[in-house]
Amino acid sequence: MLQQVNQTEARDLGWSCQGVSPLDEPCDSSATFYCAICERRFCAVHAEDETWHTCVLEPGEEGGES
Ligand SMILES: [Zn+2]
Ligand SMILES: [Zn+2]
Repeated sequence: MLQQVNQTEARDLGWSCQGVSPLDEPCDSSATFYCAICERRFCAVHAEDETWHTCVLEPGEEGGES
């Protein structure tokens, strides 16, 4: 569900990556992807890194089964 955003447009609009890091580090890269599921904008690197997407986390799944 990733949509690529025009890079120039992203910069003009001042979007920055809204990815949520597992280590709680902010990312200031300009966001060129939009995830329609978690409704956040991501830089090219974090768009493909599911650990930065809140939409990938299953609620209540913390222990890990396997
Ligand atoms: Zn997402
Ligand atoms: Zn990022």
